[in-house]
Amino acid sequence: ASPGLGWDPGWSEAFAPHAASGRSPARVVAVHKETSIVRDGASRERSAVVSGRFRHGALVASDFPAVGDWVALEATAIEAGPDDQAVIGAILPRRTAFRRAASDGSRRSSGLLTDEQVMAANVDVAFLVAGLDLDFNPRRLERYLAVAWSSGVQPVIVLNKADIADDLEGRLVAVEAIAPGVSVVVLSALTGERVADLMAHLGAGRTAVVLGSSGVGKSTLVNALLGEDRQVTGAVREHDSRGRHTTTHRELFVLPGGALLLDTPGIRALE
Ligand code: GDP
Repeated sequence: ASPGLGWDPGWSEAFAPHAASGRSPARVVAVHKETSIVRDGASRERSAVVSGRFRHGALVASDFPAVGDWVALEATAIEAGPDDQAVIGAILPRRTAFRRAASDGSRRSSGLLTDEQVMAANVDVAFLVAGLDLDFNPRRLERYLAVAWSSGVQPVIVLNKADIADDLEGRLVAVEAIAPGVSVVVLSALTGERVADLMAHLGAGRTAVVLGSSGVGKSTLVNALLGEDRQVTGAVREHDSRGRHTTTHRELFVLPGGALLLDTPGIRALE
């Protein structure tokens, strides 16, 4: 049975050796310090930690699970308070990754080399949002394009605030000049006008992110795509290693059509 969430024959093939050793696949929907929240094909969410062997073999921060990763869970869980905690034995090789230099010493105590941090893994498409209001700035779009290309992710340019657009024609020419051949969608996240045009890029099992400068309408667009308040759908209950109850915010969402939307503070701050 397919575990959904973007699983495809390529993942199945990459997972085969793990299946042979009794492991099961799951996708990381949130990471909170040392704990990952993983979701399996039965849409069950549970917390998970890497195995001792995994930790021992990890050299750099980017070796650890990130949101969007596919992981192989060991056949046996460990007991942690009222819930079993799953054990991550391996991460499947990432197809794409958004990275940034690790800024703090969060992993320094564990003796890891200074390294890039993976903000999101296995993203297929990045919606690069710019506002068609007075703040329109093609240079910023250019920077996000560079981030998408260097991460291996397909860019789609989203020109938002169509309802108050200034000089749409001129701006389309400017965008075409910096991004020849890249799909452009003109919409209004606020009114919902033409948001459905994004669906062409949100096939079932595809994973998308929304990138762009502050104020361009990312949150408004994410809410329009989710179709419900993320506050309601975003919270995940978990128990930490001492059995204490905590709440983590899920960062990978399943959209109504079966595509996935990855939205993290780190991705929002990416520039
Ligand atoms: P973010 O910082 O990129 O997440 O941007 P927000 O989603 O918070 O939006 C910034 C401001 O732009 C808010 O006041 C939104 O209501 C407004 N906004 C977002 N999308 C649209 C739109 O399509 N049309 C108009 N007129 N305003 C919008």
